[in-house]
Amino acid sequence: MVSIKNEKDIECLRKAGKIVVDALNLVRDNIRPGVDTLTLDMKAEKLIADSGARPAFKGYTVPGVPKPFPGTLCISINDEVVHGIPSEDRVLEEGDIVSIDVGVRIDGFYGDAAYTFPVGRISPEREALLKVTRECLERAISVAREGATLGDVGHAVESWAAPRGYGIVRNYAGHGIGRNLHEAPQIPNFGVPGRGITLKKGMSLAIEPMIMTGKEEVRTLKDRWTVVTADGSDAAHFEKTIVITGNDPEVITPWE
Ligand code: MG
Repeated sequence: MVSIKNEKDIECLRKAGKIVVDALNLVRDNIRPGVDTLTLDMKAEKLIADSGARPAFKGYTVPGVPKPFPGTLCISINDEVVHGIPSEDRVLEEGDIVSIDVGVRIDGFYGDAAYTFPVGRISPEREALLKVTRECLERAISVAREGATLGDVGHAVESWAAPRGYGIVRNYAGHGIGRNLHEAPQIPNFGVPGRGITLKKGMSLAIEPMIMTGKEEVRTLKDRWTVVTADGSDAAHFEKTIVITGNDPEVITPWE
């Protein structure tokens, strides 16, 4: 069952979404060569606490994984796709690309968004990967309208990335969001137009293309959280939470 949010619920989502965007902006301001990822995590955690919210990922458990996720942010560098663990031993270097994923909970509702930032000057190849992944997200959002289907949304991502030679992460997907961080439906980054459930007004969705330069295969590191590309190629990840309306979707986490 996909939950439908009323105006009061959407107001709560907006409140959570604003804190998510504030946290992303704060991290953006602190990204530079030489900074370690735990420092970024602690800055975001403080902002979230000062806003009256709590981090959504910290303490998150997955059946079969012994250790809860320890960070406020998922920080994934270069070949890391998602769920990288912040650490004082991970220091950003000039030329890296770093995905920052933020989730918060406030007043019983969640917000979730991600952005892949360049660290200093990056290669043209990495520049192109970021651009295409971001375009995938914007295209997916542009088709996420009342009456469209999840297949339309996935197809918008796949049909933009694949012809340009990029791989799509197929094992991980976007998701519904609201009173739970992850709700139905799953939102794959591939699909057949017209297939899948039909989008209805009041659905709130976290759409998050994960795109890589290499082969479409990922694996999980020994820490049991960090997902990396199997061939060591680069990956990028952009995410926004939206609400389906009678018109253009409302972007709940409007980072730019
Ligand atoms: Mg998400």
